[in-house]
Amino acid sequence: MSRIAAIGIDAGSTTCKLVAVDDGGAIVSSLLEPTEPRVELQVRHMLDTLRAELGTNGDIPTVATGYGRKLIKEASRNVTEITCHAKGVFRDLKQAGTLVDIGGQDSKVIQVGRDGRPVDFMMNDKCAAGTGRFLEYTAARLGVPVQELGDRALGASGEEPISSTCTVFAESEIISLIARGADPDAILRGLHRSLVGRVVSMVRSVGITPPVMLSGGVAKNEAVRRMIADATAEDVILPRDPQLMGAYGAALLGANA
Ligand code: ADP
Repeated sequence: MSRIAAIGIDAGSTTCKLVAVDDGGAIVSSLLEPTEPRVELQVRHMLDTLRAELGTNGDIPTVATGYGRKLIKEASRNVTEITCHAKGVFRDLKQAGTLVDIGGQDSKVIQVGRDGRPVDFMMNDKCAAGTGRFLEYTAARLGVPVQELGDRALGASGEEPISSTCTVFAESEIISLIARGADPDAILRGLHRSLVGRVVSMVRSVGITPPVMLSGGVAKNEAVRRMIADATAEDVILPRDPQLMGAYGAALLGANA
């Protein structure tokens, strides 16, 4: 097996990710868990698991990113998610462009330069309407697993427009639609459109340098990808594992790869 060069930790607000890379910068192993209240303890256990699996000790360079990055004592340094997502996606897709990272509780638009570093960015961590949480509430209410949301929205024969731009008001709008017997899939299609509208207005504020690239857990939702492509009239491309890109970028920085 190739030598383990570094471990990246992305202590996100919704999920916690660990990625180990070899000295060529390839992903050797990864772990992903829902974030627990004591993320520093959680990361310690996850690191023990990963190190045991890889047969390594604590000498491997370790870099933390994400919402809880400053709590991670095992990391020799911490780096912003902006830099780490840009680095991970640039390495995977080998492209400069406009990167949209949609996580559980925040979203970001990052202009990635030709050297893989961020040249500009915009972040939304105040309003849940442009994040995964916006979809999760309705998914739970309709009893649809998040992994199926995109296909259900794309397969709908109609679309129920969601006019509220605030999550709290959108939730009561959805409750009324359900009570009126609206098609759940059409509600989901309208909900995705609303989320994408939020995200695309951020993209327009930052400006588009094609291609548009997606990272974060919500990038796995095909309806989100297609609706961003329709709204921007640009190709929207994904790295191999979009949810791991922050941890991957952190690991690459640790490995100087
Ligand atoms: P963070 O880094 O902010 O903790 P992530 O990038 O891990 O967040 O993204 C978490 C979000 O991704 C959650 O809102 C979750 O619902 C969504 N998500 C995860 N997997 C999928 C999937 N297969 N399809 C659609 N959404 C997903």
